[in-house]
Amino acid sequence: MTSNNELFARAQRVIPGGVNSPVRAFRAVGGTPRFIARAEGAYLYDAEGQRYIDYIGSWGPMILGHGHPAVLEAVQKAAADGYSFGAPTEREIELAEAILALVPSVEQLRLVSSGTEAAMSALRLARGATGRTAIIKFEGCYHGHADALLVKAGSGLATFGHPTSAGVPADVVQHTLVLEYNNVAQLDEAFALHGGEIACVIVEPIAGNMNFVRASLPFMRRIRERCSEHGALLIFDEVMTGFRVALGGAQSLYAAQIPGFSPDISVFGKVIGGGMPLAAFGAKRSVMELLAPLGPVYQAGTLSGNPVATACGLATLREIAKPGFFDALAERTRALVAGLTDAAREAGVPFSADSEGGMFGFFFGAELPQNYGQVMATDQERFNRSFHAMLERGVYFAPALYEAGFVSAAHSAADIDATIAAARAALR
Ligand SMILES: *Cc1c(COP(=O)(O)O)cnc(C)c1O
Repeated sequence: MTSNNELFARAQRVIPGGVNSPVRAFRAVGGTPRFIARAEGAYLYDAEGQRYIDYIGSWGPMILGHGHPAVLEAVQKAAADGYSFGAPTEREIELAEAILALVPSVEQLRLVSSGTEAAMSALRLARGATGRTAIIKFEGCYHGHADALLVKAGSGLATFGHPTSAGVPADVVQHTLVLEYNNVAQLDEAFALHGGEIACVIVEPIAGNMNFVRASLPFMRRIRERCSEHGALLIFDEVMTGFRVALGGAQSLYAAQIPGFSPDISVFGKVIGGGMPLAAFGAKRSVMELLAPLGPVYQAGTLSGNPVATACGLATLREIAKPGFFDALAERTRALVAGLTDAAREAGVPFSADSEGGMFGFFFGAELPQNYGQVMATDQERFNRSFHAMLERGVYFAPALYEAGFVSAAHSAADIDATIAAARAALR
């Protein structure tokens, strides 16, 4: 058996940092990443044969747990029929129909291979539809790594952003305005200054890339109002929240509380691929018809709508659309959050936590943060210690305090109880 340490050393020789996506490297928490050999249900097994209760779920997609029999069968069958054609298939229509049936704001969609690609394409579509260049994003929201989105706030509201990554030209982000999440006054000010230039506002409705921060109702209402007044499009990045916090995504939750609410463009990923590379963006027909081959906005992909990925996504959506699925998932997730909260209280540790559907977040701080600055002001050191203490006890939470957690349908009440017991011991 090869150890995680040996694999990490070997990986670092041929892959930068030893990983194909940076957060996997454990840089935030320190230590050696676990190399996963296989997964089953709610569990991951590493190269050393250690078992972990998995609260990452491949960063969201594995809502049914690993290796769900119906999904596995669909994938195997699809693969046997051929795994890429570069030509349209009936299954792409079926998946599009399944998504459209659950998301009333979307009349047409296009399938792509990653959330990054979907968000990048949505921005291009919004710019093409409005003939405008400027975009608004919020600090702490992640929409993939397209150049225009790797940006931090400029020095004031009148100034646009600066790149957060080397290799991104300042020119490319000079049209991106970065605002504080949940800050209504700042949003108003930005629209007052730049309203006529803004093509779109892109937002994670429940931000899962700064752990778990909900957009407040007043904030969401105001984003919608300002976009409508100024002719900007509202892009909901539901790559994480879509089919995860509710069957209709986070937009169904806001629509239930804000009369007439809907986003203009929606971006999906993660759950809709069920663990395969698949994502999508969609909108009203009039907007989507601006895309090539019908319209002037170019977008394409060799593996888009891949037959194995669509089989995996479709089988996953069929399972989660069954009656009672989300009620049960939400209840189990709430039980986890309540148990962790109790364990922290007993240990006298400042703690706050929240969840929606099968997505949750917790913070070592007494109050739930409302924006990125507040998230990063929570106790990082305690988070890192607790992360390792839980990992040693066979519980795998995300290895960074700005990441959300996920419960799957495969997590049993016993798994939740075992997690809470581990937290009691770890937080002591
Ligand atoms: C994961 C994520 C993305 C990027 O998706 P990839 O498939 O990793 O490119 C974009 N937006 C949000 C909200 C995400 O959580």
